Amino acid sequence: MDSYDVVIIGTGAGGGTLARHLAPSGKRILLLERGDWLRREPQNWSDQDVFVDNRYVSPETWYDAGGKPFQPGVHYFVGGATKLYGAALYRLRKEDFGELRHHDGISPAWPISYDDLEPYYTLAEQHYHVHGARGEDPTEPPASAPYPHPAVSHEPRIQQLADDLAAAGYRPFHAPCGIMLDESNPPFSTCIRCATCDGFPCLVHAKSDAEVLGVRPALEHPNVTLRTNAKVVRLETNGEGTAVTEVVVEGDGAEERFAGDVVVVACGAANTAKLLLQSASDKHPNGLANGSDQVGRHYMFHDSTAVLALSREENATAYQKTLGLNDFYFGDDDFEYPLGNVQMVGKSTAPMFRGERPRDTKLAPEWTLERMARHAIDFWLSTEDLPRPDNRVTVGRDGKLTLTYTETNLEAKKRLYAKVKSLLGELDMNPGHLIHRFAYMKNDIPVAGCAHQAGTCRFGTDPGASVLDVNCKAHELDNLYVVDTSVFPSIGAVNPALTAMANSLRVGDHLLERLR
Ligand SMILES: Cc1cc2nc3c(=O)[nH]c(=O)nc-3n(C[C@H](O)[C@H](O)[C@H](O)COP(=O)(O)OP(=O)(O)OC[C@H]3O[C@@H](n4cnc5c(N)ncnc54)[C@H](O)[C@@H]3O)c2cc1C
Ligand code: SF4
Repeated sequence: MDSYDVVIIGTGAGGGTLARHLAPSGKRILLLERGDWLRREPQNWSDQDVFVDNRYVSPETWYDAGGKPFQPGVHYFVGGATKLYGAALYRLRKEDFGELRHHDGISPAWPISYDDLEPYYTLAEQHYHVHGARGEDPTEPPASAPYPHPAVSHEPRIQQLADDLAAAGYRPFHAPCGIMLDESNPPFSTCIRCATCDGFPCLVHAKSDAEVLGVRPALEHPNVTLRTNAKVVRLETNGEGTAVTEVVVEGDGAEERFAGDVVVVACGAANTAKLLLQSASDKHPNGLANGSDQVGRHYMFHDSTAVLALSREENATAYQKTLGLNDFYFGDDDFEYPLGNVQMVGKSTAPMFRGERPRDTKLAPEWTLERMARHAIDFWLSTEDLPRPDNRVTVGRDGKLTLTYTETNLEAKKRLYAKVKSLLGELDMNPGHLIHRFAYMKNDIPVAGCAHQAGTCRFGTDPGASVLDVNCKAHELDNLYVVDTSVFPSIGAVNPALTAMANSLRVGDHLLERLR
């Protein structure tokens, strides 16, 4: 059995970032990834292939609480979900690390403060080439360094929107974007600023994903080995159940086993919980590290809504994700509880409508899909969902993964939607803004839309109420760590990837110390 200093399972935002951080140490590191390299092919940038035919969605079946099967929106590749992500790389707000009262209850505090994570946010922003502008977002937490790259400029229609929002008294800001765009030197820019970014893989490897900026830099070190198509199905422990001794892999051929002084799980929130639960043994009868019955619980994935407004003028924007709005993040004059974040999503195209929600296209029969797409301005609204113990991942004896989820904070979600709607109406009255009508297409992401999955193995100081300690080591095992979004005690209302990356770097420093 091959033995390593560190075995990392999963190569996404958590695992890929950790690999890069540990690689220069010279320690023997094994990366195990169930997926393969995502092929670079013309289909990377085809809306038909990506959004209608789901070319890069993994063919897996999960079940909802009622036993109904569904295909989750998961992506098993080197780089994980970041291969398809929108690369909106936000920090959580400072307040998100404390206890926050919401309409539906308490969003719990993290066991570390924002200040503890701040240096790692700064490092993660550097590793992932984040472009942004400090000082514009009214809820922005303090930062010890400027963004490593200037904000991505707004295209004319979005600049107009920013100007109109500002004129209406709001504070839009340049959203933090992880794309390797050099606007000052276009011929040498890796990113070509295209319309097929959010939800697509980047054909030219200019998106700041965990393959390009995590795994590949790690593999430049001879001490790092990557095994693809290596699905970890079980972790086995010593007789006392105090340490993981064998990592069992189901690959292309026969079963293989690996050993690591340290074993780090980073399979994404649902699959990390699944792996621990299906690694039950005599010493861990309810699942590995699950004496507290917390593994799989507190699943979150954001109350998200995609909103499309039709403007009278065509919206010719290619890369639309440059604007954000956090004026309602912590509430509003008429609502004392947090509402959430508003940002742009990738520009819609007609085939996407067919792929996403065919029946919605009947909402505006007088508009052809093509015309709608040309006029669309697309927003993404995120409200924080609360970590409820009954929202959870469970695994049957047959290995079936069930996701039980009841929405929380629906009132806040509804109000955020209403705010954006009323805000656009206000903009319509602005003489400089030529919207002739609004036709919203509301697209509630169902449980299958698990892009922002988090929770399931939260870290904390109380072994009875958490799975991991402050270093994200399992309370019950000496050498088992978790570094993906499953560690989140709460999810805030901004996108989760940068926080997973930053926390991974923080845990990475702890591991470097431990392995010295
Ligand atoms: C379409 C889309 C758009 C998104 N947009 C944004 C955005 O703009 N901003 C943002 O912050 N976030 C965004 N996200 C979310 C973001 O990608 C995730 O939060 C982040 O990637 C989670 O990191 P992770 O390490 O927890 O999991 P992942 O990145 O998913 O990595 C998990 C890895 O583990 C592997 N794996 C799973 N099970 C096993 C196993 N048993 N054995 C071996 N390997 C295994 C998987 O194949 C995968 O590579 C988006 C996600 C999607 C899908
Ligand atoms: S906008 Fe840039 S990073 Fe995004 S897909 Fe296009 S080239 Fe790649």
